[in-house]
Amino acid sequence: MGQYPDANRRITDAAASTGSRLDSYVDRYATRTHGMTASEVRSLFSVASRPEVVSLAGGMPNISGLPMDVVGSLISNLIGKRGMTALQYGSGQGDPTLREQICEVMKPTGINGHPDDVTVTVGSQQALDLITRIFIDPGDVILAEAPSYVGALSTFRSYQADVVHMEMDDDGLIPERVLDAIATTKAAGRRIKFLYTIPNYHNPAGVTLTAERRARILRICQDHDILIVEDDPYGLLGFDGHVPRAMRADDAERVVYLGSFSKTFAPGFRVGWALAPHAVREKLVLAAESSVLCPPAFSQLAVSEYLAAHDWRGQVKSFQELYLERRDAMLDALSGLMPEGARWTRPNGGFYVWLTLPPGLDTKAMLPRAVTSRVAYVPGTAFYADGFGSRSMRLSYCYPTPERIREGVRRLAQVIEQEMEL
Ligand code: PMP
Repeated sequence: MGQYPDANRRITDAAASTGSRLDSYVDRYATRTHGMTASEVRSLFSVASRPEVVSLAGGMPNISGLPMDVVGSLISNLIGKRGMTALQYGSGQGDPTLREQICEVMKPTGINGHPDDVTVTVGSQQALDLITRIFIDPGDVILAEAPSYVGALSTFRSYQADVVHMEMDDDGLIPERVLDAIATTKAAGRRIKFLYTIPNYHNPAGVTLTAERRARILRICQDHDILIVEDDPYGLLGFDGHVPRAMRADDAERVVYLGSFSKTFAPGFRVGWALAPHAVREKLVLAAESSVLCPPAFSQLAVSEYLAAHDWRGQVKSFQELYLERRDAMLDALSGLMPEGARWTRPNGGFYVWLTLPPGLDTKAMLPRAVTSRVAYVPGTAFYADGFGSRSMRLSYCYPTPERIREGVRRLAQVIEQEMEL
């Protein structure tokens, strides 16, 4: 016990912050669990899920737009036709037919991938976990946008990576900030293992990286020999129907591309994928096998049948329309109701708006008062590894109806105005 006083103190800190003082296993947890702390706002979210609260907090895909009868008959046919395969173990890399279909799904991004380089994962969240597992030793550096996807940050933390954030603006990640981050990290003698980016309809920032910046950032990473992890669950959900060109389309050896059916079909199947450089693919599959043996055959075949037999492109188009109507409701309400000094992003796809309040306000401190006023959001600090983001919040427009969105923004504007008067 006395040999690692600092480690023990961190365990106790972690226990305290997760409220698990009564946990008798507290001194046995591995060091890598120290960063696994419950979000401070988690308890509020159970209140926020009450029907009277307009939740602009969650990022749940709006599957009310799915033709449930089609999906239902597809699933019963699947068991009838291919039950022996669908209910059996399968390949660790994923079903070969699905991997071919995934290459088709990626085509609009400009990616011409080979099915051999695709690994099917349990959502792209598992792909994030596997990539981090195979590349990160404790203390390695990952470059990530500021803010960044909360699920990626918690994975990075669980492998004891140090996240160095880089600033974005309305055109996405700023190339000069990438150069700054590389220079300061290298000057400190630290090793950068990869750059993590969400180039399209960013979660949580709502912005999209311009084509010109994609080329520059790719060039910077080539010059400095840095691997890019391009996380793209929203790429097909652009409101103008345009699919931005993936960085992976221009460099197959430098980029691991992550995709998902969670937003273009349904998250309940938990099917995502990683398209990795050929050399990386083998380690990725080995890591996947040791983690889950194989991705669920049932889900993979259901997705595969859906892609083969259903107009999935038409379905994606109807999702785009559903989200566009909600995005418009949110942007209209924000411009009509937000007080002077508030700024927000104008997403051209995806689920999220990033709202920044005038100086002096703290969105985490304000959240209990917002929930009392029956509106919820996610405070900005959740999306930073370093405690920044206290003046910002993520607003999701994907799930509530347009009327509820307008009502939610109205309640939020009132809370902010009261806060400004304090
Ligand atoms: N990356 C980003 C940017 C996300 O927003 C999400 C889901 N919210 C994921 C990855 C994980 O998605 P899934 O595991 O459902 O594919």
